[in-house]
Amino acid sequence: MEGSSSFVTTQIDYIFNWARKSAIWPMTFGLACCAIEMMASGASRFDMDRFGAGVFRPSPRQCDLIIVAGTVTLKMAKIVRRVYDQMPEPKWVISMGSCSNVGGPFNSYSTLQGVDRVIPVDVYIPGCPPRPEALIYGLMRLQDKIMKEHPSKYFLGRGDVLPPVLEEESSVTNE
Ligand code: SF4
Repeated sequence: MEGSSSFVTTQIDYIFNWARKSAIWPMTFGLACCAIEMMASGASRFDMDRFGAGVFRPSPRQCDLIIVAGTVTLKMAKIVRRVYDQMPEPKWVISMGSCSNVGGPFNSYSTLQGVDRVIPVDVYIPGCPPRPEALIYGLMRLQDKIMKEHPSKYFLGRGDVLPPVLEEESSVTNE
């Protein structure tokens, strides 16, 4: 009996994960030069639609992926957090480029030294800027990660797939 229930939940997990990874809707959101490469990724030459991720949405309430592409200033960090909070679950984050990963060349009083100080990041893409191929590679790694999730544990009440508790907005600093 135990084996049959785990077979069912495994199949449910597979179906949900396959549907989710095949229809990722990214947020229309860019912060600096890396966003130009992100826009190029969505154009015909690279065609993110091949992965079901070409529908960039204008509202966070319609998105399940935010690609943080560019320099995150301390002022902007609160906005990034607010946009993330407005996205429904399940949701994922790609940090695109050195600025978003670790502050890039801007080790200054005004630049956040890594967007993971305000939101949880699933995939980091190195580079300044990363090419569209790198973003597509990161997207494929995110798809791999989604396929390892267990949504059945969440809606059957036997687990917790919610992200960890995040820092308060007021604690956004470089310290
Ligand atoms: S990582 Fe480089 S290309 Fe990307 S936003 Fe920073 S300076 Fe611009």
